Amino acid sequence: MNKSADDLILAVDFGGTQLRAALVDRSGQIIAREALRTDVSGGPDAVIVQIAELSQRLLSATPNGKISCAGISSPGPLDAKQGRTFNLVLLPGFDGYPLAECAREKLGVSVVLEHDGHAAAYGEWKQGAGRGFDDFIYLTISTGLGGGAIVNGQLLRGEGGMAAHVGHMTVDPNGPLCGCGNRGCWELFASGTSFLARARERATAQNILLLGRQADEIETVDIFNAARGGNSFAEALVEEEAEWLGRGIVSLSHIFNPARFVLGGGVSNNLDLLLPGIFAFIERHAMLPFRTASIVKAELGDNAGLIGAALLASEKSI
Ligand SMILES: [Zn+2]
Repeated sequence: MNKSADDLILAVDFGGTQLRAALVDRSGQIIAREALRTDVSGGPDAVIVQIAELSQRLLSATPNGKISCAGISSPGPLDAKQGRTFNLVLLPGFDGYPLAECAREKLGVSVVLEHDGHAAAYGEWKQGAGRGFDDFIYLTISTGLGGGAIVNGQLLRGEGGMAAHVGHMTVDPNGPLCGCGNRGCWELFASGTSFLARARERATAQNILLLGRQADEIETVDIFNAARGGNSFAEALVEEEAEWLGRGIVSLSHIFNPARFVLGGGVSNNLDLLLPGIFAFIERHAMLPFRTASIVKAELGDNAGLIGAALLASEKSI
């Protein structure tokens, strides 16, 4: 398929482990992808150099390739309007950093900065499991727990472009201290990290081998595989995870009244095992008219944020 040079958008998915980039056309199709390990110790200036390097690599592999704008998906908190990051957990040196402006200077095209939950929600809305829905909530359940909300057929941005920081909703005021400074945030109970930590802690305390693995060797997928095989220790962990997810989903249903929840991130790969427990929790705790939202797995995987960032950048640059 022939594309004119100006059709391409550089999408960057900036994370604490990986820096991924793609060339995306205006219809949201990924043309090429590249990734680097994020230079965390080098700080923000090093990351800008890495973004330029990824852009170069992608363009050199794309004959006549030229980018017209760029969209960066970044963990929050950040100010999307100002294009600045705040104090990013696990990423020192980014507090107040004008990421969009620095990238614009380096790349020579307009750059928008988007919260990663928003970018992924937008991608799933335009190309994935949220297609056709005017009201849905996207959740990513992985290292942390983040998300984005589509409300009345629009991405809910909030004053600083960081609405729907759902992982920091308090679910236990007496719970453990969170990196955000608050206690008992939802992600401390329901994220993939928390789910795995609970499994390892419990296996240690009860001296249990899971699928032959020592406690510190257990991975998330082992818990699901063991539960699938009828292991009661793993089944109880999955049930508990489903309850924690259900607890947040009930609150989000009451607040946003979405027609659908789209769940991404590693934990959602085994959503079929979690759904009975999530729906059971909803039955017990949501008001009757709020029990109708469907809950489905995200469709775009790792590409959701790249596609969403590209399409958001494309719309702003028109
Ligand atoms: Zn928190």
